Amino acid sequence: MTDVLIIGAGIAGLLCATELHKGGYSVRILDKGRGLGGRMATRRMGAGRLDHGAQFFTVRDPRLQAYANQWLADGVIKEWFRHAPEDSNTDGYSRYCGISGMTDVAKYLARGLDVRTSEQVLELIRDLGQWIVRTQSGRTYVSEHLIVTAPLPQALALLESTGIDYAGAQKTELQAVRYEKGLAVLAILDGASGLPSPGGVKLYESPLTWVADNQQKGVSPGVSAITIHSDAAFAEAHWDSPDEVRGPLMLDAAMPYLKANVVEYNCHRWGYTLPINPLAKSYFHNPNLKLTLAGDAFGGPRVEGAALSGLTAAAKVLQS
Ligand SMILES: Cc1cc2nc3c(=O)[nH]c(=O)nc-3n(C[C@H](O)[C@H](O)[C@H](O)COP(=O)(O)OP(=O)(O)OC[C@H]3O[C@@H](n4cnc5c(N)ncnc54)[C@H](O)[C@@H]3O)c2cc1C
Repeated sequence: MTDVLIIGAGIAGLLCATELHKGGYSVRILDKGRGLGGRMATRRMGAGRLDHGAQFFTVRDPRLQAYANQWLADGVIKEWFRHAPEDSNTDGYSRYCGISGMTDVAKYLARGLDVRTSEQVLELIRDLGQWIVRTQSGRTYVSEHLIVTAPLPQALALLESTGIDYAGAQKTELQAVRYEKGLAVLAILDGASGLPSPGGVKLYESPLTWVADNQQKGVSPGVSAITIHSDAAFAEAHWDSPDEVRGPLMLDAAMPYLKANVVEYNCHRWGYTLPINPLAKSYFHNPNLKLTLAGDAFGGPRVEGAALSGLTAAAKVLQS
């Protein structure tokens, strides 16, 4: 039994838990993944390390800036760049990344929190004013408050199975939020990638949106390792293609930017990259059910939007 159960150890869930923990609540986070960070994901391939989800994040809001300043001071993140080659966006904001990968922030935030990984939530039950949460491992967790930070369609699918009217008239707008899909190829090269500094190139021509050099970024110091992201149209078209088909198509499209050969590669499917139509509000809160929904579907997409959603959701629960 805890005061709060949070589903999701991405940036939204971890920042939400941090604030609630500071506020004196007992908090437990459950995540189905083996690692922390959700879409801020870093993966090993042999001796290489690669960021395969979010590549960097910006900070525009002072609430997140306060955290980012701490992360900078503690050597968790660094400024990667302000403006990438080919990027039409010249807003001047820093693009931050974890010193050894995007999961660094999640690992740092999780210190001192009760986080259970490899715990996929299968069932939610509301009974006698409590939330009862059952996971695939067969465990049962009980709490007073429930905060769900899974991508919104996944959160709603879990809530639908309760049979509870959890959102009344607001359910339609929650259900309207859609996400893009994406495909990532992670590849080890036999030499320096040749990508121009800072090692991340924004692309506007299908099928790719991004090619990044994890070695130049500092994530994979000893091994030349690149991350390639597809656009949503290619991901839809090749969602069920074998890796032997979609992998070479993405590698061929990246070749004009590379000066080394591919030694090995892996493909990864992202069912949820960015919300197409995020909601304007920062979270959803049902005070009677002590139910809160947060994450990048609320208040702005991307890492910063998800972070702010987690922070404001925590403030709402503390206020209640
Ligand atoms: C390929 C890609 C590239 C991106 N690039 C960028 C970028 O460069 N910059 C940027 O700012 N943003 C980028 N984003 C978006 C950014 O990663 C997300 O907006 C942000 O990380 C979302 O955080 P979150 O906490 O809301 O959700 P998530 O990080 O998705 O966390 C939700 C967590 O919930 C868990 N979960 C889901 N269902 C269950 C369940 N039933 N039981 C237990 N756990 C569950 C998941 O395992 C996950 O860890 C990118 C995303 C992708 C996929």
